[in-house]
Amino acid sequence: MIRYDEALHQILETVFSPQPIEMPLLEAAGLVMAAPAVARWDMPRCDNSAMDGFAVAGAPDKPDGQLIIVGASYAGHPFHGEVKSGQAIRITTGAALPKGADTVVPIEDAEEKDALLYLSTKPKAGQHVRYRGEEYLDHEVLIEPGTTLRAGEIALLASAGVERVQVFPRPRVAVISTGDELVELGREPGPGQIINSNLHLLRIRLQESGCTPLCIGIGADDPGTLDQLMDKALGADVIISTGGVSVGEKDHVHSALERRNFTKIFWKVAIKPGKPVLFGMLEGKPYFGLPGNPAATAATFELFVKPALKRLAGETDVLPEKRRAVLTNEIAVGGKRQAFLWCRLEWHESGYRVSVSPQQGSGQNRCLTGANAMLAAPIGVERLEAGEEVEVLLL
Ligand code: AMP
Ligand code: MG
Repeated sequence: MIRYDEALHQILETVFSPQPIEMPLLEAAGLVMAAPAVARWDMPRCDNSAMDGFAVAGAPDKPDGQLIIVGASYAGHPFHGEVKSGQAIRITTGAALPKGADTVVPIEDAEEKDALLYLSTKPKAGQHVRYRGEEYLDHEVLIEPGTTLRAGEIALLASAGVERVQVFPRPRVAVISTGDELVELGREPGPGQIINSNLHLLRIRLQESGCTPLCIGIGADDPGTLDQLMDKALGADVIISTGGVSVGEKDHVHSALERRNFTKIFWKVAIKPGKPVLFGMLEGKPYFGLPGNPAATAATFELFVKPALKRLAGETDVLPEKRRAVLTNEIAVGGKRQAFLWCRLEWHESGYRVSVSPQQGSGQNRCLTGANAMLAAPIGVERLEAGEEVEVLLL
């Protein structure tokens, strides 16, 4: 049986980013840039005011001197004339500075009476002006390849007139649920039946990870049905199945895969939960056979599927972020296999603290609630004591 880090290594040796595509900026939220994005103009596009107030020509030296108000420049409605010495115009934030004007007096520092302006303080020449190109210049690279497009990046590129971007496509991930006992939420489970809860865990984690989930359906525990679902799933970029990968009589995923062009890369990893996890390439597509126990499905998704999805999405940092944290409660751990325990990591005064629910049964969903991390206990450790420093992987 291989170790977690070996298994992860084998996945990352197998899965690569696909060819980039071009698409509208506004559809690219969450995707990773594959080529630099370049500004189409200077920003600001012209010198403009940073305040509501008055634009003047040169800083008048006498604070109590009068200036003649000759017009107004509002955001979106520039003043087309020129401002000469001894003159002022009203101006609003973001409005273009007209010819001749180079200084802005905030509304609070001036008084207006009968079309004349009286300044209460002497302005500094050039104050409260935002200059053309001071944020970025035409043709400047604004976003480098490898950057994930989030709200801030998209707003920046929109401001620069960038309408289309080169990105790595959003991975489409098929989810096959296996098990004669499964029924979908909305149907009352009969004797021996349970709700297909793993589907929803995966569907939502896939969406949160920027992927498009494709729910292929529930496959009964026989190789023929699984074969049909695999046909449907092959339209996706990655295939995940849950259940049926262990050594039970009804675990038919292996035999369904053997009928096809499947290259097994590993089966069984020395982890707890999730030992029977299977990984390989099915007709050129990464295939993850996750064990069906809910906490095992969730753990193997985070440990193995997530890094592969990040790689497919073009991300460069694909490994989970780690933190050192002080354990708040004692807990029994795996021993022979590397244990991953659902836990809650919190910043407390000057460091991280982590609390682990004692209920870590791999057959349960309950331990997943409230968890924002997984505590990784090294192989061979039987117990962890309160106050010990431990390693935690962020979800
Ligand atoms: P298996 O991996 O097929 O041996 O299933 C292990 C355990 O996980 C069994 O108790 C199954 O009923 C349960 N299980 C399998 N698939 C699911 C699922 N999609 N949702 C919830 N529980 C499941
Ligand atoms: Mg099963």
